[in-house]
Amino acid sequence: MELDTPPYSDHNRTALSKEKLKRGFLDNLYFIQGKFPHIASQNDYYLALAYTIRDRMLHRWISTAAAYYDQGARTVCYLSAEFLMGPHLGNNLVNMGIYDTVAEMVEEVGLNLDDLLAQEEEPGLGNGGLGRLAACFIDSLATLEIPSLGYGIRYEFGIFDQEIVDGWQVEKTDKWLRNGNPWEIPRPEWSQPVKLGGHTEQYTDEEDRLRVRWVPEKLVIGVPYDTPILGYRNSTANTLRLWKSEAPESFDFEIFNRGDYYGAVDQKVTSENISKVLYPNDEQLSGKRLRLEQQYFFVACSLRDMLRILTGQNIPLSRFHEKFAVQLNDTHPSIAVAELMRLLLDEYLVPWDDAWEITQRTFAYTNHTLLPEALEQWPLPLFARVLPRHLEIIYEINDRFLDEVRMKFLGDEARLARLSLINEAGERYVRMAHLACVGSHAINGVAELHSELLKQDVLKDFYELWPEKFRNKTNGVTPRRWMVLSNPRLSELVTERIGAGWVSDLDQLRQLEPLADDPDFRKSWWEIKRANKVDFAQFILRSTGILVDPESMFDCQVKRIHEYKRQHLNVLHIIALYRRLKDNPGLDIPPRTFLFGGKAAPGYHTAKRMIKLITSVGEVINRDPDIRDKLKVVFVPDFNVTNGQRIYPAADLSEQISTAGKEASGTGNMKFSMNGALTIGTLDGANVEIREEVGAENFFLFGLATEEVYALRASGYHPMDYYHGDPHLKDVIDLIRGGSFSRGDTELFRGLTDGLLHHDPYMLFADFASYVSCQDEVSRAYLDREHWTRMSILNAARSGKFSSDRSIQQYCEDIWHASPVKIKLLGHDEEPTGFIQ
Ligand SMILES: *Cc1c(COP(=O)(O)O)cnc(C)c1O
Repeated sequence: MELDTPPYSDHNRTALSKEKLKRGFLDNLYFIQGKFPHIASQNDYYLALAYTIRDRMLHRWISTAAAYYDQGARTVCYLSAEFLMGPHLGNNLVNMGIYDTVAEMVEEVGLNLDDLLAQEEEPGLGNGGLGRLAACFIDSLATLEIPSLGYGIRYEFGIFDQEIVDGWQVEKTDKWLRNGNPWEIPRPEWSQPVKLGGHTEQYTDEEDRLRVRWVPEKLVIGVPYDTPILGYRNSTANTLRLWKSEAPESFDFEIFNRGDYYGAVDQKVTSENISKVLYPNDEQLSGKRLRLEQQYFFVACSLRDMLRILTGQNIPLSRFHEKFAVQLNDTHPSIAVAELMRLLLDEYLVPWDDAWEITQRTFAYTNHTLLPEALEQWPLPLFARVLPRHLEIIYEINDRFLDEVRMKFLGDEARLARLSLINEAGERYVRMAHLACVGSHAINGVAELHSELLKQDVLKDFYELWPEKFRNKTNGVTPRRWMVLSNPRLSELVTERIGAGWVSDLDQLRQLEPLADDPDFRKSWWEIKRANKVDFAQFILRSTGILVDPESMFDCQVKRIHEYKRQHLNVLHIIALYRRLKDNPGLDIPPRTFLFGGKAAPGYHTAKRMIKLITSVGEVINRDPDIRDKLKVVFVPDFNVTNGQRIYPAADLSEQISTAGKEASGTGNMKFSMNGALTIGTLDGANVEIREEVGAENFFLFGLATEEVYALRASGYHPMDYYHGDPHLKDVIDLIRGGSFSRGDTELFRGLTDGLLHHDPYMLFADFASYVSCQDEVSRAYLDREHWTRMSILNAARSGKFSSDRSIQQYCEDIWHASPVKIKLLGHDEEPTGFIQ
């Protein structure tokens, strides 16, 4: 088929020159938005620009699809219930290398690029770190030119928008699709049917074989919506394929014919519910039927989609695992193990042993948590109701698996119970992490420490069984979004000094090291941080009405609100500092602005009260005339990717203060460090590796190490002893208890303080003294601006390891065995020659 007709040869839709971009932009305003400049809104202009960029992306996308098709390339499938993408437009301009050209073009027609960028509603299809990791990973996969697909759910409502009312979190529905989404293309022709509920039956087929039939209670249709994902300055455009659930026409129709109109409508509503809303729990399981249906829904659609691709390329089913490397981002998609088995056994009649080999060779599993309450397990009766056939298959997997264990550990019944896919202690559950471990050939943690703790603790029994399956893949973040796009001033300075190679080879930042000794460079570095702080101060004023001083140290803790992340430890230090300043107004400490941001799960009452504590302490301190402008406390509402892009570049100090052994990796810590913030942190997650890279002398370390946490817990931890033993701690707690931050109300924070005094599961009291003295060290260091700036430069210069390009490279080499496919643009507009066979 000849394809050298438009769009390939249509210059206005593919060319990257300013004039062609302008032509395309005005055409799209006219032909897509149906507006002319006098009546167009900012949103019309944003959409016209988005479509102008999308035209260029489609050129790359089609070229990429053609190349992958021709070469039958090995493909990485990244299965994730969350993709926290952030806005697309700016990132696409960066990756296509036309950011400045488009800014000028837009200026020439009397508009402003920042205003247009601000029109985009971010797709918040994730809770926090895990979803953002998936987004960084698909950016790096495209940049490294690895054939890959991201598979997930097209939630109609993403993570809620957070407002702060009277100091409390209020959740607002995230209607991100309200104004349409120019980045996605629906592909209804590739829709997939998904069965749910019902029962199974045994029967004998025409050829006398004993088979199992799944008779579902309902059927839904998954419709794929594709978003192109560009690599950085190459011609690759990979695909993010998100599934929307719809009602099947025929099903409705049947009921409709029986005259049950409302029944048919009901069916439609129930079907569409599956992809309706993202569950807002980070690191917490909920046990809701709809959530299990969501997980199975997107996994079933994605596996069937892979089979469609396989068939389309005439690859035999027996080579499924050679064509696809499927990564399970946490246990959310781990039902894929049972679903692939079901497809192979029931629908393709593959014998068990062959099916099992294909399955194990296909999947690899990434664990993301060390919190026992976050390890997913489903109540057995619920699981049986939603996925009756999968439960049978899981029983069979379990029987064969436990036979293997019995052989290896003769007589060790306790071990069998610990390893079983079914938790039989009390109420019975299906353990999804165990299913993922058994069904995968590789299991990895997301930082060195985390991977070690998996082997010693969380997945110890699996490690003893299959040590060869275990790996580490330390997380990373994409420098395209988290430096180039969000910190243009710093990026420009860096490029001016060491060239632009660092953007796709972050280790090159090492070349900045000698510049840390150059006073002129330090001056530029400081001024850039200062300019970013001025910008952010303006944003704070707009969003909270609080005036902050850009001269003050910006001390930032932004992340989901959770007890293990210990935002309340930060608050205890603020109160201690406040007390010291009240007692000694002449104290020579640098002024500080304490910035917090993060969402609490709506049902997590303690986390919501932590937000109230932060805002309450802020209210008292911010209007205390004695404090003047020495301290400010600000809770920045609605922490999301867009706001992260403002915060990380403006931070002086990064708070990474989780209890050692609790944070799997963290990625916020990496974003801060590469933007020149210094870290105050515990030896937890990737903090350990950040400290190793930047040097202990450029990192503020405090607190118990993991081993010490374990030892203290084992020996009996009594928080009350710390309270009575440390007058500063006692004073801080008594101030909160006595109502100093609640207008005399002694009830408001009683739950929090009593929890700490009597239980303190995250050991704030044990780390308090060490934290406070480390913060004093931070204050002293900040007074020496030259030295601080030197440390800041060295942090950025030594952050190369934390590029997600490095993570993905390691996944490719060690787990996926995937290699790059170079894309040649088809029918380049200057010389239209494109043909696809
Ligand atoms: C990076 C990021 C996170 C993860 O932050 P941690 O500090 O690693 O918990 C969460 N949410 C958003 C919006 C992010 O950009």
